[in-house]
This record gives sequence, structure tokens and C-alpha cells, in this order.
Amino acid sequence: MKKILVTGGAGFIGSALVRHIIGNTSDSVVNLDKLTYAGNLQSLVSVADDPRYCFEHVDICDASEVARVFEQHQPDAVMHLAAESHVDRSISGPAAFIQTNIVGTYTLLEAARSYWGGLEGSKKADFRFHHISTDEVYGSLGEEGFFTEETAYEPNSPYSASKASSDHLVRAWHHTYGLPVVTTNCSNNYGPYHFPEKLIPLVILNAVNGKPLPIYGKGDNIRDWLYVEDHARALYLVMNRGRLGETYNIGGWNEKTNLEVVQSICAILDELRPAGAPHANLITYVKDRPGHDHRYAINAGKIEHELDWKPLETFETGLRKTVEWYLANSGWVQGVISGEYQNWLQQNYTER
Ligand code: NAD
Repeated sequence: MKKILVTGGAGFIGSALVRHIIGNTSDSVVNLDKLTYAGNLQSLVSVADDPRYCFEHVDICDASEVARVFEQHQPDAVMHLAAESHVDRSISGPAAFIQTNIVGTYTLLEAARSYWGGLEGSKKADFRFHHISTDEVYGSLGEEGFFTEETAYEPNSPYSASKASSDHLVRAWHHTYGLPVVTTNCSNNYGPYHFPEKLIPLVILNAVNGKPLPIYGKGDNIRDWLYVEDHARALYLVMNRGRLGETYNIGGWNEKTNLEVVQSICAILDELRPAGAPHANLITYVKDRPGHDHRYAINAGKIEHELDWKPLETFETGLRKTVEWYLANSGWVQGVISGEYQNWLQQNYTER
């Protein structure tokens, strides 16, 4: 039974990971999260009352608070997901990405190093720091080939550059100080509780409300899609059984153009929520994102062979589950987008 310090546990992937750990293992979780616009404790109501779960409202850039959390909770492992994660926001305002993704990761590494240095015996030997990152650090692929763990880093956006920096810091803390680390780089996640600024939830909600479905450029950019619960299982496996100092790529073997993704959502909605006209009539092409990477695709062979992990969802089954979840959970969506959640947050979590 481990105590795991999860950073960013109120975010999209972090909350899926916390629900996975509390729901399927006997481990406990300390969720350290600043609760930015992307952090939402309503995604954790199913675990909030579990005695194995607790929440710390802390910024990873706040060194003294992060050190306090380590001392107070004495974790056996760290799973670091806290980040600014939206590429478009990184283009209009990169500062927060540099601060959280680079300075924040540095701050967390230093706190972990100091804490780990003071541990003894098996608690020290078994400790690990798992850094969660993205395949976007590898840059863009042509029509052929896949990213592997050996692919050279070529980040193209402020977001991916900040994540690449954090990956390098984690690697350096392992090689220089011996901190027991493992890193994962994954493809685009989708699934329930995804903040509706990202493509799939945005398109579902706009389509349901009869609003335009924006697609960058010609819609021919290709992404590999990974169902978030498959990712959470993979992360837990790597944290427990991944080899120290190693990187594991996690992907869903689901390459789709953005246009295919949007058309698939429209087809599911045509069946579940027939409107007067096909939902695909709402598709609207908008000016392309600057520096938009053409194609990402992951070879997930290493984690599959070494750790016996495989995605359980195909894109078709995962997408249908996702659309059904958004249709059934309009309360969560309203809470996130209406500002009601922000008011609740202000009342419950005022600045220290
Ligand atoms: P998200 O934006 O949904 O959640 C990020 C969480 O981090 C939020 O709860 C937010 O409040 C918290 N946070 C932000 N700044 C913080 C700070 N300074 N201190 C403490 N907490 C802070 O992100 P996500 O989609 O869940 O992604 C999680 C991780 O996975 C990120 O590191 C991201 O780079 C990586 N990743 C995501 C995807 C994806 O498709 N979503 C793909 C590859 C990698």
C-alpha cells in the first residue's frame, strides 16, 4: 500500500488517475493542485470522502508549501501531472507555461530530492518520481513513421518546448543526483471530464447546442488518440513497474485526422440526438494555428512488451462512451463553463 503524491490531480488526466487509484487499488492519494481554470474538484466527487484521498491546494512553484506537503504526508511516490496544458493558450500567453511547466517542475524536483535524500532503508530504495509528459516534445512527423523513445526532441510550440524542458530537468536530476525517476510521453487523451476548450468536448457541446464546429485549416492534421482511462492504467503500471531512468511512450494506435474525429462525433450524435439536419453541416473551417504540427503517432511497443499494457478501448468505443458521458453530465459541464464553479471555488478555496 503506497501513498502517492499526485500533482495536477484535479485536471483531466490527473482526476482519471486519482479515480483509478482510489477505485481499483489499496493505495492512498494526496492530490496537490493549484486549481487553475483547468482544475475542477467536481471531477473528484466520487472519491472525495474516501479516507485514502486528501487534497492540498498548493502551487507547485511555491517551494516552502511543496516542502511542507512532502514532510507532512511522507509519500512513497510522486506522479507529476500539474501543468499548463493547452497549446493555443501557450501561443497567446507563454509566461504561465514557462512558470508552471519549467519552474514548477524544477521546484518539485528539488523538494523531492531533499525529501528523498532524508529517507532511509526500503522507503528510500522504493521511492520514485514519475514525470508525465507529451509526445509533442518530438515535433511533427511526415506521412510515415512513429515516435519512439529514441526520437530526438524537436518541440515547436511554447507548450511543447516547456514540456521538453521539464523532461530534460527530470532526466538531469536522475543522472546528476540519482533521483529515481521514470518519464512517460503520451498522445492526445480524450474521455469524460475533459475541459471543453479541447477539440473533442468542444465539438460535442457545440454540436448539441447547434453552434459551429471549428476545424483548423483543412482538418488534415493527424493525432493519435488515447482513452484517458487506458492512460490512467498505463501510468499506474509505469509508476509501479517501469525501469528507473527509462522513458515509456503511451499511445492508442488510433491515428485520425481532425476532420475524421469531428465527423465521427457528428455521426454518433446523429444517432443519439437526431437533429433536423446532420450535425456535420455545422463544420466550419477556421484559420490554422501558427506552427501547427502536421502529424503525431506513437509506437507504444515498449510499454506493451515490457509491462504488458494494452489500450482496452478502440477509438470507436471510447468516443461513443465520451459522447454519452457528455450527454448525461450536463451538470458537470455547466459547472465548469458557467462561472458557477469559479464562484464556489472562491468561497471554498481563497488564496492563502
Ligand atoms: P489539465 O490542464 O486538464 O490539468 C492540469 C492540472 O494542473 C489542473 O488541475 C491545474 O489546476 C493543475 N495546475 C496547473 N498549474 C499548476 C500549478 N502551478 N501548481 C499546481 N497545480 C497546477 O491537463 P491534463 O490534460 O490533465 O494533462 C495532465 C498532464 O499530462 C500535463 O502534464 C500534460 O502536459 C500531460 N499531457 C496531456 C495530454 C492531453 O491530451 N491532455 C497529452 C499528453 C500529455
